[in-house]
Amino acid sequence: MAVCARLCGVGPSRGCRRRQQRRGPAETAAADSEPDTDPEEERIEAGAAALAGAGGGRGAGPSPPPRCSLLELPPELLVEIFASLPGTDLPSLAQVCTKFRRILHTDTIWRRRCREEYGVCENLRKLDITGVSCRDVYAKLLHRYRHILGLWQPDIGPYGGLLNVVVDGLFIIGWMYLPPHDPHVDDPMRFKPLFRVHLMERKSATVECMYGHRGPHNGHIQIVKKDEFSTKCNQTDHHRMSGGRQEEFRTWLREEWGRTLEDIFHEHMQELILMKFIYTSQYDNCLTYRRIYLPPSHPDDLIRPGLFKGTYGSHGLEIVMLSFHGKRARGTKITGDPNIPAGQQTVEIDLMHRIQLPDVESLRSFNELSRIVLEVREQVRQEQQQREDGAEDGEGRAPQSPREPQRGPAQPSVELPAEKGGGPADGEAAAAAAPAPEQPAQSGQGQPFVLPVGVSSRNEDYPRTCRMCFYGTGLIAGHGFTSPERTPGVFILFDEDRFGFIWLELKSFSLYSRVRATFRNAEAPSPQAFEEMLKNIQSLTS
Ligand SMILES: [Zn+2]
Repeated sequence: MAVCARLCGVGPSRGCRRRQQRRGPAETAAADSEPDTDPEEERIEAGAAALAGAGGGRGAGPSPPPRCSLLELPPELLVEIFASLPGTDLPSLAQVCTKFRRILHTDTIWRRRCREEYGVCENLRKLDITGVSCRDVYAKLLHRYRHILGLWQPDIGPYGGLLNVVVDGLFIIGWMYLPPHDPHVDDPMRFKPLFRVHLMERKSATVECMYGHRGPHNGHIQIVKKDEFSTKCNQTDHHRMSGGRQEEFRTWLREEWGRTLEDIFHEHMQELILMKFIYTSQYDNCLTYRRIYLPPSHPDDLIRPGLFKGTYGSHGLEIVMLSFHGKRARGTKITGDPNIPAGQQTVEIDLMHRIQLPDVESLRSFNELSRIVLEVREQVRQEQQQREDGAEDGEGRAPQSPREPQRGPAQPSVELPAEKGGGPADGEAAAAAAPAPEQPAQSGQGQPFVLPVGVSSRNEDYPRTCRMCFYGTGLIAGHGFTSPERTPGVFILFDEDRFGFIWLELKSFSLYSRVRATFRNAEAPSPQAFEEMLKNIQSLTS
């Protein structure tokens, strides 16, 4: 606004039309077709000239101030100035006068806007062949569909998913991200396009469905409301294969799981796989997506928060979002399964209760680990009881903010197992003197780690040293998310990019590895917006 006022040479009170009428760039074309008479033009020009002269000090000397109006600047300079303004401000500028309007037809202005605002590096000059201008690309493609850029979770019942919508050359593409094949958590994510939007002709953008193996075909996108949109396929016959359902299933099995029908014939997971195929293929013609944000990070965080791939037994690999909330860390499912659906909090880590693992020999005993963990759980229970009692006594105490300086979250508040009772009684004093989370309290770079005998793991290739461990709970439930229950477990931090969780009751181990892809337009506008998003995706499957 301020820029506009300066450029027009008039303040809002002098009738800058931008105040009165704000148009989107998509409507610029309409504005252009209006008759080129502009009654305000002369007045603005005069105003601009007067303003430009005013700076010289009114009546200070005998010589009149030199006349210098923005309108008198050479067109190439105006192009340079206009090209540096946000694209959304340009339509208002086009309404100032015919000269500005004409200059705003210059495609280099819009080429620069496409590049700077949407990262379009493509050689936009080749657009000329199709008769599509950079301004069309900006207004009818990039600006028009800007609300769908970023990360999304599709509403596919318990399964969820991760969609990343990006500007790619002269396309907007919706990529579905899939975890690597089970159990290779360290492998990169896989992705396949679900839809694309581009300008094939000047008039309007074309939406195409990319599902299936028969190439792009007619589709539709509807922006339902803020942070929600849906896609629809208008030609679902393109999803079908000549070999019928069996060929479709075989192909899906190969792509999704890296398996053959023969492979899974002997495994107990075949029912789960078949169910997922039947369930998800019902959603091939219409999908709704809800926006997700990446977790905000903070220098105090144990490791950088973000997305991780984790092993989930027969369910295969799933995508989990690790986020920090003061004294707790949470793992939220971005993809899910019929037991624990997407959106639920699969693990919760109690950063105030560190677990000191015994030496490797003792660690091999599941009973020993179990004893240690259950002891911490008892302590957590007692502390919670004390807090509740205290809360009843001192009602009205201000709740602790999630970003309150953490009282040494990475420090042990209990000394386990050997020096029981030998630890400092005053947790706070100990925390103050203790080293920072990045420096493990143990010797050197970490301590040896091995899974207790009897604990099953999909992946035998887990790290054999760890930095530190914490008490945590893991969510388990029956099929259909029945009788969900948080059960005790151990969170093991291996390094900056890997962690694990031992599910005591299930006697199983999940290994998580960081998703290294970078995502644009995925930052939460505020920590509150992130918390809100977590709550929303959880409530959808509860
Ligand atoms: Zn389709």
